[in-house]
Amino acid sequence: TIEYINGKYLSSGEAAVPLEERGHQFGDGVYEVIRYYNGHGFMLEEHLERLEKSAGEIRIDLDGGIGRIKEIIEEGVEKSGLKDCYVYLQVTRGIAPRNHLFPKETKPSVSMTVKPASALTRDMVENGVAAVTHADERWANCYIKSLNLLPNILAKQTASEKGCYEAILHKDGRVTEASSSNAFIVKDDTIITTPLSREILPGITRAALKDVCDTAGIRFDEQHFTVREMKQADEVFITSTTSEVLPVTTIDGDPVKDGKPGNMTKLVLELFQARTQNR
Ligand code: PLP
Repeated sequence: TIEYINGKYLSSGEAAVPLEERGHQFGDGVYEVIRYYNGHGFMLEEHLERLEKSAGEIRIDLDGGIGRIKEIIEEGVEKSGLKDCYVYLQVTRGIAPRNHLFPKETKPSVSMTVKPASALTRDMVENGVAAVTHADERWANCYIKSLNLLPNILAKQTASEKGCYEAILHKDGRVTEASSSNAFIVKDDTIITTPLSREILPGITRAALKDVCDTAGIRFDEQHFTVREMKQADEVFITSTTSEVLPVTTIDGDPVKDGKPGNMTKLVLELFQARTQNR
């Protein structure tokens, strides 16, 4: 594992964040999670673009721009010696005496860890995971990949305490996404997912999947759906950088159809995995 903070590499467990770091005091920052497959950053440019957008939306000026961030990532991955790894990178508004107002002459902080990728268990991929539904209690700007994850953490903890892997979030019965992934249903061989808006994170895996479907001629519909429609769908799955494409086979304790991963989910998982290996 590599740990990096503001220009310094430290060995595991040594890196410390100053008390007055705004990421610590306020969660005043944004982040990215990037997966390297076989030495290649999967959709690295898309992750960098999203980071630039997230930072811009909260008015953090990336010191040296996104080009410098890319160099930091590539250097960190190289130092780690890892070919299959996760890069977690945070950019915050920096270190300054605690005050809600933006500090005037503070440079953003950049911190990063590079860790070995942990493969999803075969059981999760082959049998699918359980999910609960949970009210989406987050703010109005979920398209920003903000460090403020309290509602996400609470929802996922609730799911875990019910023996489930993920919490699928909804606003008055309309599904938005999940606590740390995007949500999809399959109905009559069409993949349906919530359209992009301020309400959801534009997942990079979601974008990759859309492209996979376009290439393979699979219908991909960006349309709202309800919890009720999800529970009656043919298949349900989630996507994220760490979960890839993961079948959801029970929701709130009830099986989705026969409780086994569906054929469309298996097909797009296979097509997605082929893509991660080929570029
Ligand atoms: N939605 C939320 C709330 C997330 O936290 C994440 C990833 O962590 C995603 C969706 C999936 O995004 P990506 O595919 O870019 O990892």
